[in-house]
Amino acid sequence: MNTKTPVDLPEGYLDFYKNLESWQNQQQIKLKQAYTPAAIDVVKIMDQTKRSVMQSIDFELDASVFREVYLELLKFLQESRPETADQIEKIRSASIQFDFEVLPVKIMEGDRPYFASLAQKHELAEELLVFSVDHTLRPFLRLWAAPYRTAFSEAGFDAWDFATVCPFCAAKSNFSRVRAADGRRFMFCDHCFTEWETRNLCCVHCGNSNPHSISFLTVEGFPAYQAYICAECKGYSKSFDERQRAIRIDPFITNIETIYLDLMAQEQGYTSHEEA
Ligand SMILES: [Zn+2]
Ligand SMILES: [Zn+2]
Repeated sequence: MNTKTPVDLPEGYLDFYKNLESWQNQQQIKLKQAYTPAAIDVVKIMDQTKRSVMQSIDFELDASVFREVYLELLKFLQESRPETADQIEKIRSASIQFDFEVLPVKIMEGDRPYFASLAQKHELAEELLVFSVDHTLRPFLRLWAAPYRTAFSEAGFDAWDFATVCPFCAAKSNFSRVRAADGRRFMFCDHCFTEWETRNLCCVHCGNSNPHSISFLTVEGFPAYQAYICAECKGYSKSFDERQRAIRIDPFITNIETIYLDLMAQEQGYTSHEEA
């Protein structure tokens, strides 16, 4: 499918993410063969604990399987991003000394100092190291989250108080889609692919629902791609309005290809509050 965007993205940028998503998909299918999901009432857990499900329930991750997928990902990165091949090779050599029990935990906790010191110790590119561990974990998260997808999306917007936090894996989100069928708005987690409902005319960062202080940024000719901006907290979040195009989008890719909306919002002084 040929998607047009109002700005030219760097050559190969979108294809790289599309291929990465397909690769992760294949990994998820492989992992599924040896996986039996547990019967968990996720809605009850998030209601009772007010925490994301993975903060309450342990999903077992075999360190040797994680390591295998990690090495596969490095191979994928080496092939699809030849310009980083040398850096990846250094990571691969150093990975003999990595603790694969600890790596996924540290990425979930967002423990950047851990990765900074690991990168320093082995003289690795820190961003690439974090990216590689983060994206190795995602097929696992998607596998674990998949059985509860409908439960989350149908729980209603009252079921979860933290619009920008994934109720399954606790990753931060700043992207939503408005569903064509009924106009309901769903936040999307690009880590585990969970979707959860949020109020339509409401700032996901501060809860402001005053229509006079919430507006949209769009680019002419692309009205379905929007950034909600909030005058109260100066926050923004991106959204795709499926009603305008009557299509179902791939939210993972749409989030990436609308980087121009991030730039527009940030230029005007709005923030995704990602560091908060
Ligand atoms: Zn998630
Ligand atoms: Zn706000």
